[in-house]
Amino acid sequence: KVRVRYAPSPTGHLHIGNARTALFNWLYARHYNGEFVVRIEDTDQTRNIADGERSQLDNLAWLGLDWDESPANPGEYGPYRQSERLDIYKPLIQDLLDRGLAYKSYKTAEELQAEREAQQAAKQAPHYVYEYADMTDEEIVAAQAEAEAKGLPAVVRLHVPENKVYAWDDIVKGHVEINSDTVGGDWVIQKADGMPTYNFAVVVDDHMMEISHVLRGDDHVSNTPKQLMIYEAFGWEAPVFGHMSLIINAETGKKLSKRDETILQFIEQYRELGYLPEAMLNFIALLGWSPVGEKEIFTKKQLVKQFDEKRLSKSPAKFDNKKLEWINNEWIKTGDQDMVFDKMMQQLVKSELVDPAELTPEKMQWLRSVMNVYMDGVSYTAQIVDLIKPVFFTMPGPTAIPDSQKEWMKGDDVPLLLAKFSEKLTALPIFDAYNILNAVREIQAETGVRGRELWNPLRIATTRQEQGPNLGSLLELLGREQTLANIKEFY
Ligand code: GLU
Repeated sequence: KVRVRYAPSPTGHLHIGNARTALFNWLYARHYNGEFVVRIEDTDQTRNIADGERSQLDNLAWLGLDWDESPANPGEYGPYRQSERLDIYKPLIQDLLDRGLAYKSYKTAEELQAEREAQQAAKQAPHYVYEYADMTDEEIVAAQAEAEAKGLPAVVRLHVPENKVYAWDDIVKGHVEINSDTVGGDWVIQKADGMPTYNFAVVVDDHMMEISHVLRGDDHVSNTPKQLMIYEAFGWEAPVFGHMSLIINAETGKKLSKRDETILQFIEQYRELGYLPEAMLNFIALLGWSPVGEKEIFTKKQLVKQFDEKRLSKSPAKFDNKKLEWINNEWIKTGDQDMVFDKMMQQLVKSELVDPAELTPEKMQWLRSVMNVYMDGVSYTAQIVDLIKPVFFTMPGPTAIPDSQKEWMKGDDVPLLLAKFSEKLTALPIFDAYNILNAVREIQAETGVRGRELWNPLRIATTRQEQGPNLGSLLELLGREQTLANIKEFY
């Protein structure tokens, strides 16, 4: 039975990389009719943030990823927070101590520091030096009793076998072998505060929760041999591992780091800009994975159906902002329009262009039509504000327009064009897009002015923009009175 998990540490909000981990585990579960578990890895009490757990789950839910078990809806494998599982870890650590596979260590931070410096000076790779190497069992017991008596805090370290190869068949990377000598020696399985370390607890939990497959980021590859040591110590079977490729910034080619400010990295930030969850999910699914064929727009359902772990890529996944915008735009154009309008409305309210208290049904309908006209050019819903504000809310006067626009308004024909436009618009029996465009065509026929020489002055005078959606539709929405007033400002 497929049981997979997403195991965030509540030390921050949902990061793009974690969202990808969560998504692929979720896809694994849903594709193979398995179970998707959320477990909170909160043993590093100093790094946990107050809102961490709620924010993680909230953003997963926003992306549309549902879970079968979590702290909030526990199944049979609880508790689902590591900090509540200490009773489970304790006897297992004791068992390793009793069997001589682990030991208590009392080295102080200063001693460890000195050890590292000496190794550095000797150009050795940093590694833990076993302090009881030359002692008999009795001497060890005595040394530990003395340290205890001094009140020195103890950590528990695992005896790491020398020069032993740990190997696994990785879903993504294929066969991987790592020598035990590369892990830096006996590592800590229980910290001085009594908390297990991640590499220990994760094994116990994955085993006890019957996790069958572990998909996670490439950055965990070096942890895997440590975890295999714990599986070995208890004689447990390890799950199948898959380490997904790094995510890199497509523009710089550098590994995505939290300090890279050219890319928004938290799901929350995209949410605030009005990105659609469907689009985010679609985009994240293509980070290091590709389905057969050229198609790039996928619903959640299609992703579940098409998911194939064999198509997870070994090469770094490129985070390409332009692609994300394109995908979001596709979703905006083709997604549930009511939902898209709702999101855009939220942005208009947030930017105070629209006061919800003054929203009549007519105004609402008008806003919908305005947004509709701009739909094709919107990569994410927050953009609607900047698109419609200068045309429909705070239009700049003739002197406040950019120089490039002023140039267009200097042509010799412009006064005549504007006069004719005004006249014809005034006379239109019905002020709609069709008639408005017709009026422009008449002006072309009467004056012989055509192309940008014709359209730009008319567009700039009426909308203060050089480019934009269909001019007829825009002016219809602006209304006759406002359109005429705008033109009037130019002559
Ligand atoms: N809590 C770990 C992390 O946030 C989970 C790693 C794993 O999936 O084993 O990276």
